[in-house]
Amino acid sequence: MGDRDSTANLKNGRHYGADSRLPTQGLFIHGEAVSATSGETFETINPATGQTICDVQQAGAEDVDRAVKSAREAFKVWSRTPAAERARILRHAVDILRARNDELAELETLDGGKPLQETLAVDIASGADVIEYYAGLAPAIRGEHYDLPPEAFAVVSREPLGVCAGIGAWNYPMQIAMWKSAPALACGNTMVFKPAELTPLTALKLAEIYHEAGLPPGAFNVVQGDARTGQAMTCHPGIAKVTLTGEAETGKLVMADAAKTLKHVTFELGGKSPFIVFADAILEDAVSAALMANFYSSGEVCSNGTRVFVERPIYDSFLAKLKPRVEAMRVGDPFDPETQVGALISREHMEKVQGYVDMAKASNATLVVGGERPSDPALSGGNFLTPAVFADCTDDMRFVQEEIFGPVMAVLPFESEAEVVERANATDYGLSGAVFTQNFPRAHRMAREIEAGSFWINDYNITPPEVPFGGYKQSGIGRENGLQTIESFTQVKTVYANLGRFQGMY
Ligand code: NAP
Repeated sequence: MGDRDSTANLKNGRHYGADSRLPTQGLFIHGEAVSATSGETFETINPATGQTICDVQQAGAEDVDRAVKSAREAFKVWSRTPAAERARILRHAVDILRARNDELAELETLDGGKPLQETLAVDIASGADVIEYYAGLAPAIRGEHYDLPPEAFAVVSREPLGVCAGIGAWNYPMQIAMWKSAPALACGNTMVFKPAELTPLTALKLAEIYHEAGLPPGAFNVVQGDARTGQAMTCHPGIAKVTLTGEAETGKLVMADAAKTLKHVTFELGGKSPFIVFADAILEDAVSAALMANFYSSGEVCSNGTRVFVERPIYDSFLAKLKPRVEAMRVGDPFDPETQVGALISREHMEKVQGYVDMAKASNATLVVGGERPSDPALSGGNFLTPAVFADCTDDMRFVQEEIFGPVMAVLPFESEAEVVERANATDYGLSGAVFTQNFPRAHRMAREIEAGSFWINDYNITPPEVPFGGYKQSGIGRENGLQTIESFTQVKTVYANLGRFQGMY
């Protein structure tokens, strides 16, 4: 645990501050905050100070079962609620979320260590936008009619699946809870959601907000806990679908468990995405985007472009422009409005990232800048690392191949388009990618050739609610956002109607 006195130098928000201590948090089941029956608790820690924010009750199998039963009860009501009414309730939740944006952003910063300048602008807002989008779509979900002359017709309707399990990662805790629950609820499903053990707090706020907005009790429940709680969900026979955001290895385990009862699955998993800069790119833009694609949220973003391929003629000038910009980045107190790089999620994760930095230093790559613990004593209790850039990297280096999920950029030179396509695709991941070039035919060739679920041309990490987001290969199954997600949260029922007499065969 960090020294509470050292936080005296860290800033406070209006609602929460670096030294906030909260009461024990429990679960949210059937429209109210309830205690877990397991008797077990875990601590949630402020990543910027190392201090405990509060104890959280771990949901055991019995608690998960209670949440599933509640969600099944709610399903009877919610799935029969007219779509326009579902839309109104979801839109009301959006209004509450926007009105409480700053307070929720502070709680996210407290629990997750991200700079307040990010959480105020993005974390809550990008989730609320997605709920608004699906609220708008709810009444537009429709079926098909087939005329089957002479005396029959068929109606094909879209029906909700039932109870969906949402299991979240710690990097965008509240946004993930909203991205999963919005389409699920808009389609008439109910949800049991488990946030990551490291960031349990804001999902509970979302549950309160949905309840206040008019969602029936049990339509959105929150259970807390680690992988055991997640497994109790993925193995529960009362759950129809699992939507997970997490590591690729977790996806494999969850898929195996979900297979036992043949649940539907949607997986948003890890990545090691290519960020490709051709010599004709606007260099300033490419450098700015590479910074954002590697160091936003301390590099804890699944779709980050961590393999930065730069065409040989501009390789040196790219690095020359990049270095001072990285040096100027402000690492520090997440509650300071000037801070651009906050704390990594946990001590264990920071040590893992440092391990990759050490591995890179020991390789033939060249450290350009960063990769150190900051010297400011006020930050000593937190999990801070300065953004690191390594040049002269090669594809075979382990830190170039594996997802680090921290502020570590690998820069790799390339000579030709064909070569960079092959190298960019030489990974088991396929979440995203980008090209920076002014040559549009080439940009489109790259978009076609790169194996990724999202590809940006002269931009990065833009994820509007109306466009699908998700991975190729081992980066995921299915998509979040967009119209397509309506399909994965519904099932199709065919009703065949005979208007005439039954034609017997015997
Ligand atoms: P993680 O370790 O895979 O955990 C994800 C969630 O799954 C957590 O809630 C975790 O619980 C739970 N879990 C772990 N093992 C489980 C099991 N056997 N059965 C059921 N649930 C289980 O991932 P993370 O460290 O939280 O997040 C980082 C990863 O998420 C990175 O790989 C990142 O790329 C990926 N990510 C992907 C996207 C995307 O949209 N593609 C977005 C964000 C993050 P505990 O936390 O309690 O262990």
